[in-house]
Amino acid sequence: GAELRFEGVEFGYDPRRPILKGVSFTVPAGKTVAIVGPSGAGKSTISRLLFRFYDVNAGRILIDGQNIRDVTQTSLRGAIGIVPQDTVLFNDTVFYNIAYGRAGASPAEVEQAARLAHIHEFVMGLPDGYQTMVGERGLKLSGGEKQRVAIARTILKNPAILLFDEATSALDTHTEREIQANLREVSRGRTTLVIAHRLSTVIDADEILVLDGGRVIERGRHAELLAAG
Ligand code: ADP
Ligand code: ADP
Repeated sequence: GAELRFEGVEFGYDPRRPILKGVSFTVPAGKTVAIVGPSGAGKSTISRLLFRFYDVNAGRILIDGQNIRDVTQTSLRGAIGIVPQDTVLFNDTVFYNIAYGRAGASPAEVEQAARLAHIHEFVMGLPDGYQTMVGERGLKLSGGEKQRVAIARTILKNPAILLFDEATSALDTHTEREIQANLREVSRGRTTLVIAHRLSTVIDADEILVLDGGRVIERGRHAELLAAG
């Protein structure tokens, strides 16, 4: 994994209306940092800046010390594996969906990724295992099942940085908890940024930042933030 660092990042879609007002944090290599905060706090904006959909107005975003301004879009996209909230799966097999973008991945590699993402058992429970069809013409997967496939796909890319961008926000609380419990294993040893709406879903993060009004208003581990109220 790589180190991800935001240094005094300031940004506004309209530069006269700041959205992020000096955001600084570091995700050390192999660690997990979570950003939580109310709607409108600027969480999605952080994700968009990381992908350089927009450039910062001030400050820097660094991956292993390199300013992402100096990195090509292609290598940036290769470096960051995102699991978004609404994953669009292909109307094809589970195997194809997991291996997508990794042409030539062997069945053994795909199975290994599925084990890492803790979906191997789940896949084996499907009628045709990895050959089970996803989508309208095939088996309908639940929202939670789709997200597991999405997580496995992202893990197979073995990205330097994992970004869970409200990956479980659309799921019911029970399913969200289940997948979050798996994410601890999936993200172990990987540089991981989790963007979430609820503090209760990021219990295992090494550090949690509370973002509000474009500023980090609190940071700490889960228990510390609970104690602070
Ligand atoms: P969060 O993800 O925490 O809900 P966002 O990063 O989506 O917050 O939004 C932060 C602020 O930026 C909000 O005030 C929102 O209205 C504004 N905003 C988001 N996207 C745009 C955009 N494309 N153009 C202008 N303002 C935007
Ligand atoms: P791959 O390397 O497998 O082709 P990417 O990691 O570049 O795929 O992107 C995976 C999917 O996530 C693509 O459909 C891309 O459009 C989408 N995506 C990329 N960045 C974001 C983002 N910030 N928010 C939501 N979706 C994104």
